[in-house]
Amino acid sequence: MTRPARARIDLRALQHNFSRVQRAAPDSQVMAIIKANAYGHGLVRVAQALPQAAAFGVACIDEAISLREAGFDRRIVLLEGLFGPDDLNLICGYRLDVVVHHDSQLDWLAKARLLTSLDVWLKLDTGMHRLGFEPGRVNEIAARLVAIPQVNAVRCMTHFSCADDLDNTDTHEQIELFNGAVAGVDGERSLANSAGLLGWPAARADWVRPGIMLYGSSPLAGRTAESLELQPVMTLTTRLIAVNMRKQGDVIGYGGDYRCQQDMPMGVAALGYGDGYPRHASSGTPVLVNGQRAMIAGRVSMDMICIDLRACPDAQVGAEVTLWGDGLPVDEVAAAAGTIAYELLCGVGSRVQFDYSA
Ligand SMILES: *Cc1c(COP(=O)(O)O)cnc(C)c1O
Repeated sequence: MTRPARARIDLRALQHNFSRVQRAAPDSQVMAIIKANAYGHGLVRVAQALPQAAAFGVACIDEAISLREAGFDRRIVLLEGLFGPDDLNLICGYRLDVVVHHDSQLDWLAKARLLTSLDVWLKLDTGMHRLGFEPGRVNEIAARLVAIPQVNAVRCMTHFSCADDLDNTDTHEQIELFNGAVAGVDGERSLANSAGLLGWPAARADWVRPGIMLYGSSPLAGRTAESLELQPVMTLTTRLIAVNMRKQGDVIGYGGDYRCQQDMPMGVAALGYGDGYPRHASSGTPVLVNGQRAMIAGRVSMDMICIDLRACPDAQVGAEVTLWGDGLPVDEVAAAAGTIAYELLCGVGSRVQFDYSA
């Protein structure tokens, strides 16, 4: 038998979540964010399942090329723009949009001999303090871009730092700062990631840029995905490869961190941090065994996890174990491991077999 670690990708759930975006922002065009292998779900398969996305957002040229080679003709935006002047040949050759967030990029563009024309997204830093120009420079930068003969449309964008927290007024300030800065610049505008478009109606503008909500995880703090009508796209499963009775006082796994409080059945599931399951998930992190809730016990190993089976004493070798997905929100597992769903989804390893269902 082959290793039973599987990621089932439910493309119908993906489409459902996409329509949730459209319902929240009916007047905006959607740039589906599919960087990092579509948050671990498979770049091309996800793109194929999103025919209504007006554009795709990716982090680097390799991702964009994979999409072009798979036959996608749609607008593709390099969210971090070019990393050096040499990128411009590929950018023009593959007809990619670039974000411009730094003077160095502006210089590369201005000095290059571009083979074709291209569209630029001018990124403003309205408070995240990661990438982007100071808002006060927007007119100067836009003018420089427009003066480059091969630059077509210029769109303005920004990114939120705290939009997941509906009580944090920084987002409101970012929106105001952005709108004030771009008032004199022609062209479409984009502000909102998933949290921005769900939580901050004023941020929807011409283009929204959803990522995490497409995959069915909640972008808003304190809100479950279900309450936002999002469905999990990835369900990560494996099987029990051992079930053993342990005695009261037995310790389990590396370091002996977990001590059995009573005689109890202990399962071993074939999946571990070598597959992307978080090693920091502590004893008590939920899993499902044959659909019933159980908890992990002891430290996560590279290839295995021990599971306290007291809640499902009938589970045998071969029983299906769900690590997250259908019936067990990835957000809940992320919280138990002190991380976020983004990291768990992106981190699913290449040993896991992916199955797609439409
Ligand atoms: C990743 C990213 C997004 C998507 O963010 P989510 O929180 O996943 O919705 C949007 N815009 C930019 C610029 C990004 O880098």
